[in-house]
Amino acid sequence: MPPELWDELRQRGYLSLAAPVEYGGRSIPFTRYLELIELFSMSHASIRMIVHVVNGTWRAMDRFAKDDQRERFVIPSVQGALKIAFTLTEPTAGTGADLRCSVVREGDTYYLSGQKHLITFGTICDYWLLFARLAGTRGADGTVALLVDRRAPGAAVVEMDESMGVRGTDHAQLTFDRTPVPVTNRIGEEGQGLEVALGGFLTPSRISVAMSCVGLARRAQELAIEYARKRETFGKRLEQRQAIRFMIAENATDIEAARQLVLHAARQWEDGDVSAAMLSSMSKLQAVEMLTRVTDKALQIHGGIGFWQPNAIERVYRDARAQRFEEGTNEIQKTVIARELLGGSST
Ligand SMILES: Cc1cc2nc3c(=O)[nH]c(=O)nc-3n(C[C@H](O)[C@H](O)[C@H](O)COP(=O)(O)OP(=O)(O)OC[C@H]3O[C@@H](n4cnc5c(N)ncnc54)[C@H](O)[C@@H]3O)c2cc1C
Repeated sequence: MPPELWDELRQRGYLSLAAPVEYGGRSIPFTRYLELIELFSMSHASIRMIVHVVNGTWRAMDRFAKDDQRERFVIPSVQGALKIAFTLTEPTAGTGADLRCSVVREGDTYYLSGQKHLITFGTICDYWLLFARLAGTRGADGTVALLVDRRAPGAAVVEMDESMGVRGTDHAQLTFDRTPVPVTNRIGEEGQGLEVALGGFLTPSRISVAMSCVGLARRAQELAIEYARKRETFGKRLEQRQAIRFMIAENATDIEAARQLVLHAARQWEDGDVSAAMLSSMSKLQAVEMLTRVTDKALQIHGGIGFWQPNAIERVYRDARAQRFEEGTNEIQKTVIARELLGGSST
């Protein structure tokens, strides 16, 4: 994605759809925002990634930011003046309470050491919104959320190798060796790092990812119908074959069912209903499984040629696979749902 595309998205207001007007945002209702995310997802997974991340990251920071931090980080990020990369995943630890990146505090400065990887926008951002722990702590205790300057000393940034899908955005591998971070760049208190990363912000974000799955599935279905209308075998167009018609009917049903669950989760979140967090996991789980089925059938309808570039279904199929990792894998969604229903441990 060239920098000009970021500028165009910003100028058209697409990076500040969800944020409040007083921050320079458009404050559009969440369900309306989802309709736009659906369209972005139909257009291109990497454009969708930019719109989704920028419209979401401010929310994670804002709930815990002090007034001066809101001025320095939250508002400039909403206005597109600062790029902030959400930096949680690690190569040597599980995502969440297992994290190993650690900081040692000396006066007004933390010194950060450890590794992160798979970080979208991690090479081009201005700051990493990075999650670490105070050295020697365990579990959620002692975790911190820090805004780490991309140019800080002791930070080595390597662009990751080509990914299977979502190839339009960069993804970084990061190593920190006593990288200094001012204590004034900590969002929330010591011990609240994971709350910033995984707290209330995650519910709307998961619903937004679920709607992204719906958009991508709709695109796959469009391509399948287009192809079935023009491809002829044994003297008939594919659209006239019952086997193909059934696949298209199943896809349409699957897409609509997931879409309605996503919208239900969104409305419950807008109404402040306690079930919204579990519904967000349910909608993400349902939508991503639907997307797997729909893209598989859409590729099947294309026959062998669909497996080749530059056929549009080839990219959609690869991009769809990435959704099974974003904002938590299916296994993690099931863990969240089961915990709500049965109580007990999250892992
Ligand atoms: C395109 C793309 C962009 C990304 N961008 C970002 C980004 O910007 N920032 C960021 O921080 N991360 C990013 N990620 C990383 C993504 O969030 C993680 O891949 C995802 O959370 C899974 O974590 P992991 O890769 O460490 O898998 P692992 O934790 O190693 O898990 C491997 C497998 O085991 C399962 N598993 C793990 N733990 C458990 C458990 N306790 N119980 C049951 N099953 C379990 C998982 O579900 C998975 O199937 C990105 C990933 C992709 C593919």
